[in-house]
Amino acid sequence: MLPNDPAMLLSVVNTYLRDEYDSLAELCYTLSAPRAALEEKLASLGYVYDEAENRFVYREKEEIMNDCLFCKIAAGEIPSKKLYEDELCCAFYDIAPQAPVHFLVIPKAHVASCAEVDGGNSAIVAHLFEVIAKLAKEQGLASYRVVSNVGEQAGQSVPHLHFHVLAGRDMTWPPG
Ligand code: 5GP
Ligand code: ZN
Repeated sequence: MLPNDPAMLLSVVNTYLRDEYDSLAELCYTLSAPRAALEEKLASLGYVYDEAENRFVYREKEEIMNDCLFCKIAAGEIPSKKLYEDELCCAFYDIAPQAPVHFLVIPKAHVASCAEVDGGNSAIVAHLFEVIAKLAKEQGLASYRVVSNVGEQAGQSVPHLHFHVLAGRDMTWPPG
């Protein structure tokens, strides 16, 4: 039985393909999974089946945003101090920390900001928040702030969706 949630599905299917099945056809046949529906669901996250690699890959291969800093960090083309990475997202420490703990959690897929979240990519955003909760727990953060700036007036300087996770000092409210 394959999971319904697209992000979970991606992770389960790629693990199966890596460990147990030589092709998507074999996986679908053995698990009686409807291939078209499965591909459609993962396409909604921006992932397509790569025959040669026998796994679902993010379309970044053709569509990588050549001029986007965080697309390049996500792809490992620009170095960063990563603290977490999976199929859908990665987390890395901010180059100019504004608190003793300051890391960013971003989708690998290019989404410009919160303003571009819609039904087609919101499963990725849900996943980002699961990752934030997991990393905060792992780091023993009892209290922290999650921030996403949208647009110039709010202070967004990198136009690729990212959530700041800040902790380790008193925070003021309202934010400046
Ligand atoms: P924004 O201003 O868009 O809300 O957040 C962008 C964040 O990215 C800033 O806090 C900035 O310090 C961080 N940043 C910008 N360039 C780099 C980089 O090359 N590496 C890392 N690790 N962080 C960066
Ligand atoms: Zn990008």
